[in-house]
Amino acid sequence: MITVAEVIVDVAAYPVDRPFDYLVPAEMTNIMECGSRVKVPFGPRNVLGFVVALKNDTDVPLEKIKPITQILDIEPVLTGEMLQLAKWLKNETICYEIDALQVMLPSALRAKYEKVITLQTDVEHLPSSLKEWFEKSERVYLKQFEKNNLLPDIKKALKEKMVSLENVVQQKGKVKEVRKVRICPERETLTEIFNNISKRAKKQKLLVEWMFNHVGEIMEPDIIYKELNTSSQVLQAVIELGAASFIQQEVYRDPFTKDVKKTDFLNLTDEQSTALYKITDAMNRKQPETFLLHGITGSGKTEVYLQAIAKCLEEGKEAIVLVPEISLTPQMTERFRSRFGELVAVMHSGLSVGEKYDEWRKVHQGKVKVVVGARSAIFAPFENVGIIILDEEHESTYKQEDSPRYHARDVAIWRSNYHSCPVILGSATPSLESFARSKKKVYTLLTLKERALKQSLPTVQVVDMRDELKQGNRSMFSQQLVESIRIRLERKEQIVLFLNRRGYSAFVLCRDCGTVLQCENCDISLTYHRSNEKCKCHYCGYEIHVPKTCPQCQSDHIRFFGTGTQKVEEEIAKLFPEARVLRMDVDTTKTKGSHEQLLQAFGDGEADILLGTQMIAKGLDYPNITLVGVLSADTSLHLPDFRAAEKTFQLLTQVSGRAGRHSKPGEVVIQTYTPEHYAIELAKSQEYEPFYEREMHMRHQAGYPPYYYLALIQISHHDVMMAAEYAGKAADWLRSKLSFNISIIGPTTAGISRLQNRYRYQCLIKYKIEPNLIPTLLQLIKLYRSDWIKKGIILTVDLDPTMI
Ligand code: ADP
Ligand code: ZN
Ligand code: ZN
Repeated sequence: MITVAEVIVDVAAYPVDRPFDYLVPAEMTNIMECGSRVKVPFGPRNVLGFVVALKNDTDVPLEKIKPITQILDIEPVLTGEMLQLAKWLKNETICYEIDALQVMLPSALRAKYEKVITLQTDVEHLPSSLKEWFEKSERVYLKQFEKNNLLPDIKKALKEKMVSLENVVQQKGKVKEVRKVRICPERETLTEIFNNISKRAKKQKLLVEWMFNHVGEIMEPDIIYKELNTSSQVLQAVIELGAASFIQQEVYRDPFTKDVKKTDFLNLTDEQSTALYKITDAMNRKQPETFLLHGITGSGKTEVYLQAIAKCLEEGKEAIVLVPEISLTPQMTERFRSRFGELVAVMHSGLSVGEKYDEWRKVHQGKVKVVVGARSAIFAPFENVGIIILDEEHESTYKQEDSPRYHARDVAIWRSNYHSCPVILGSATPSLESFARSKKKVYTLLTLKERALKQSLPTVQVVDMRDELKQGNRSMFSQQLVESIRIRLERKEQIVLFLNRRGYSAFVLCRDCGTVLQCENCDISLTYHRSNEKCKCHYCGYEIHVPKTCPQCQSDHIRFFGTGTQKVEEEIAKLFPEARVLRMDVDTTKTKGSHEQLLQAFGDGEADILLGTQMIAKGLDYPNITLVGVLSADTSLHLPDFRAAEKTFQLLTQVSGRAGRHSKPGEVVIQTYTPEHYAIELAKSQEYEPFYEREMHMRHQAGYPPYYYLALIQISHHDVMMAAEYAGKAADWLRSKLSFNISIIGPTTAGISRLQNRYRYQCLIKYKIEPNLIPTLLQLIKLYRSDWIKKGIILTVDLDPTMI
């Protein structure tokens, strides 16, 4: 009987997306399992693949079927659940199945290839320039030849078939091992060795004598050196005699920079108890159920999560907690670690490749029971999930912007169905989509209306900056805010100043001709970085030094604009020379652990003012913060995004929630040029439902989600004519296939009309119910993959885009 594996191969942009059959060689049949990575021949190359099914027959003629070259995992890296989930993701988000499989794994396991030159003849036959390279090894990385300007020689050798070119999988972030000493487990052997050591080798004798008390133990060599004040030579000598041996032991890298103290469960408020009861009831019924936990800031949502997780662990199950990347502050992870200690793994972008791999392995090997992480932690390979939590469920970072364009909320609900467990979506400002679903009883609504410590919400004042200007105040601080800051400084209370910089950055402008420095490759203005006096494109990485004169008119009146955090910091220094300020932004949090240190310092009262961007909007919970100042509420309001008002409302509510969370009452000052805008008015009164009603009305009128669904098709090409032509083709094609009551807008130029030298067009589809949509889009993708792609077109489909 033969064994055949169905393999999803890692081949970029192949026209058909299906598994291919490969023969499992006899020596692999016993170890081959679904979910393992393999290497298989594909055309002239060897590529990485995932085994997704095993079977005993195939339609491929036996003389044609190729065998698997190599098996990379003896223990599968993907569970059966993940293989099913990948199929679902492929259909749901219209992506390649390989992308769906890869996204579930830590990058250390995602294959990268290295091009390798393999020797085909005897070394002696090679030209002398290449000979020395192959003397020690039959395989040499191509980049070695590149570095040494030997590419022409290699090319020649390739033509003459003396060498061949291969791709091999490159493993990043390998398992970390340390060397340890294992003391011989047999007492008799030790005795024998002890007796044979000559009396003159005193130190050796002492060491072996000591080993009698540690028979069979494994320990670090350092401990032995210290304990016996002995050297590595002595240890080496007794190892050679057989009294002990060196072994390599696998260890996990530690992602935490400090230990945390254990904390106890708090006595829940009535509202918290009711919420917890409903969640645990769903757990007991072993039914999937999605809860929307709508609780104002400081209402104790996190405590509800913690106690629900404790219950889940009691049942012997595992918990997944997602938090947005920016709120994955040490304070947040500490709250979980302080309850569940060693059982917690963390997964976020601040970890190194190796640390991420180790955290993933802890989950995979069942060493931990709770994962706290950003978006991709939703794929934590637990096999017995008891609860899934998405904190700040409204955050747009839960949607991935590259293929597979999935939303973590959808994946969470899929997994909750698979495991028959509850999902909790928590927020003080739920997304309109989720709140609408709770109104329709698709989600179960749980509400926390009061702050856990019974503190009242902070008082909010809105300052009209136009009036300030009229009164001759040109500073970015209103008189009101200056006064409030002064009072807190006097009282030795703490202040958080928030600079809303979403979609906003410092740019460089010529005052004479108005030229703004632009990226060479993208239609984007360059962002000015003061730290190294450089201008950088945040989309493609293009970077230049700030020119001394304008590239257009040669004027030297070249200035940078934009209210960066550094500028605010300077202004504070002028207004309040005595204030101690901590600045938190991308520049001050580059190095590992700096984020943590800054917060720690602020928490310890080492500064009076914390100044920051989005990073400080969430998770901060310090008793001495009594004033929050929002320097400009408007920047996010004017983004070309139909969710701009919603995002502004959410952000203002979040930052305001940092004030007065404990015994001291809080105050919020919001500065704006548009105080009459409903997002700002309602953020002032801190009422969610009136905002919801108002915004729903707007969306209804404009035909946007949650009333309509959106699908965004983007088409790009290096040549503007080609891009326009194929965008037109796509639009025509969609119009011919989809029913007439669907609106198809476009083609239009995309928000960023040129990116990395590609011209971009888009079509936006708005629909309510269109059973034909997915099949149609799949056909379009097929057309693209089999033909357009060869012409240099890139086409992407984004269902439920976050930005349009
Ligand atoms: P949220 O996540 O809803 O913003 P938190 O869970 O951070 O709120 O709670 C706010 C503050 O109230 C925290 O300092 C927390 O320790 C405290 N807290 C929460 N629940 C309780 C409770 N039942 N009893 C006492 N303090 C509580
Ligand atoms: Zn100029
Ligand atoms: Zn660019």
